[in-house]
Amino acid sequence: MSKIIAITNQKGGVGKTTTSINLGASLATLGKKVLLVDIDPQGNTTSGVGINKADVVHCIYDVIINDVHPKDAICKSEIENLDIIPATIQLAGAEIELVPTISREIRLKKSIQLVKHLYDYVLIDCPPSLGILTVNSLTAADSVIIPIQCEYYALEGLSQLLNTVRLVQKHLNTNLQIEGVLLTMLDARTNLGIQVIEEVKKYFQEKVYQTIIPRNVRLSEAPSHGKPIITYDAKSKGAEVYLDLAKEVITVD
Ligand code: ADP
Ligand code: MG
Repeated sequence: MSKIIAITNQKGGVGKTTTSINLGASLATLGKKVLLVDIDPQGNTTSGVGINKADVVHCIYDVIINDVHPKDAICKSEIENLDIIPATIQLAGAEIELVPTISREIRLKKSIQLVKHLYDYVLIDCPPSLGILTVNSLTAADSVIIPIQCEYYALEGLSQLLNTVRLVQKHLNTNLQIEGVLLTMLDARTNLGIQVIEEVKKYFQEKVYQTIIPRNVRLSEAPSHGKPIITYDAKSKGAEVYLDLAKEVITVD
């Protein structure tokens, strides 16, 4: 059975893209077949797995707006078992172009349904907003992973996110679950990080992953080389923790 997970938080810079790339690559390394779906117009997941956007023939925009079959948009990454439907800047127009279209909230869902049987996991990297692309992602997904940066105001904005999740559950996707909450970018040298962990655990309880992602320079360097951490520096702390996270995600199923 395949599982579709949206990686979402409308705050930018909390680790959604880093988690999509590296959870995806780690699951693939553990032998799972993984499809990344990049639905952020910035396309950082796309370049982060080594796809040159200039070479992309069909991107997620073509799939959800122009009815291109998702199979025709799938690209292979350098990692075995890891494929991606890329995003290019074309997608920036989609938020507006989708507004007057029929079944605008379920377009991504319909497309993913056509290919999900080929994969164990489909991970959707959401944009930093609660707009129509994120609603499409939540409608397509079985569950969400919410990355939360271990910083001041960590919980700020989460009530809006949870409200959007509830609205999608009510109107579009009754079965949507919270897969897990992932604490990211922990700076172990500060007390603040520890406080945030406690606060988030109080709020989300057992939904919080035991794996906590520390700040790790190698994780921030890897994207500029177009590589997930596991191929950029397999011995780094970043590679180790994302592998731990992948094992945790697999255990839940
Ligand atoms: P989002 O997709 O939520 O906007 P990103 O995954 O792009 O967030 O992360 C924002 C920035 O922080 C990027 O430059 C990324 O390389 C960096 N980053 C993400 N996670 C870590 C980490 N654990 N350690 C160090 N840098 C990180
Ligand atoms: Mg991102």
